[in-house]
Amino acid sequence: MTSRMITLALRAGFVIVLVSIAVGVGMDSPLVLIADAILPSPTFPATHTPTLTLTPTLTLTPTQTATSTRTSTPTATITFTPLPTRTRTATPTPTINPNLRVARVPVLMYHAIGIPPPNADAIRLDLTVTPQAFEEQLSFLTYQGYHTVRAADLAEHLLNGAPLPDKPIVLTFDDGYADAYESAFPLLKKYNMTATFYVITQFIETKKSGYLSWDQVREMAAAGMEIGSHSLDHPDLRGKTIAYQNSQIAGSKQMIEARVPGVIVKTFCYPSGKYDGTTIAVLRLSGYLSAMSEIQGVRQTNETVFETRRVRIRGSYSLTDYAYWLNWFTNSGR
Ligand SMILES: [Zn+2]
Repeated sequence: MTSRMITLALRAGFVIVLVSIAVGVGMDSPLVLIADAILPSPTFPATHTPTLTLTPTLTLTPTQTATSTRTSTPTATITFTPLPTRTRTATPTPTINPNLRVARVPVLMYHAIGIPPPNADAIRLDLTVTPQAFEEQLSFLTYQGYHTVRAADLAEHLLNGAPLPDKPIVLTFDDGYADAYESAFPLLKKYNMTATFYVITQFIETKKSGYLSWDQVREMAAAGMEIGSHSLDHPDLRGKTIAYQNSQIAGSKQMIEARVPGVIVKTFCYPSGKYDGTTIAVLRLSGYLSAMSEIQGVRQTNETVFETRRVRIRGSYSLTDYAYWLNWFTNSGR
C-alpha cells in the first residue's frame, strides 16, 4: 500500500465514524451535512422575479389659479426730448411710372394785347403786352424754331399720344378781350401761328364793353384758333357746389358750342387760376381734356392735364426778359 491509499482509507474510516456518531446522536439527515461538505452548491432557479409594476398615478391638478390682478400703477411720465430733425441728403430713388407721359412744352399766358390807357393801374399794365412787343416775341419764336400748337393739341398728345411738331409752344389768351381779335389775331395770322383763346361767355352774351363778340370768335375759330372756356362770368370756383360749378364749366362749354357751330370746346382756363377738387371732377365729367392753371412751369404730364403749367408773360417784359424767362423755364425742372 502506498501512503496515499493509506490516507484515503483513514479518511473513509473517519467519515464512517462521523456518520455513526450522527446517527447515534439522532441528528437529522446526516447526508445533508455530507453534501454540504462535498457536493457543489446547487444553483437555484431565480424564482424571485421582481414584478415592478409602476402605476403612473401622477395627476397634476392645476391649482395655480390666475388671480394676478396687477394694478399697474402709472409711473412717472417720461418726457422725450425731441431729436434734431435730420436733413436728408440721400438722393431719392426715382419711382418709374410706366404710364407717365411727360412733355416739356411752354404754354405762354397772355391777357391783353394792346396799348394800355393812360390811367392804367399796375395790374392792367402787367396784363397788357403792346402789339409791338407781341410781334417781337412772335418773330423771336419763329427765329428760334418754335411751332405753335393749341392747348387741345397738347392735351391730345399727353393723353392719347397725338404727335406734336418739333419745339412746340402754346400761346394762350385769357379773358377774351376785344384786342385779342383786333391786335393778337392779325399778328398770329401774319406769322402763320395758332393760339388758344379763353372766353367768358356771359361777357360776350351781354356784349360787355372791351370784350370779344360772337362774330369775332366765330371768325377766329374758322381761322384755326382754339376757343376754350373761361367760365360764364369769371367767378372764384373754389368751395362752390357741384351744381354751381357745373353751370360755370358745362354751361359755358354748351354756350360756346351753340354760338360757334363746328367748335368742340376741349380745354378750360380757371378764372384767376382758382379751383378745387370739385372743379376738376366737374371738368372731367363735362368732357374737357385739360385746364390751364397759373402754376409756373413747362413740365406737362398726362397726370396733370387739369393743372397745365404756364409761363406768365408780363407787360413789362423786354424781348430780353421774354427770351430769358422762356429759356429759364425750359431748362428748369419746372
Ligand atoms: Zn381770367
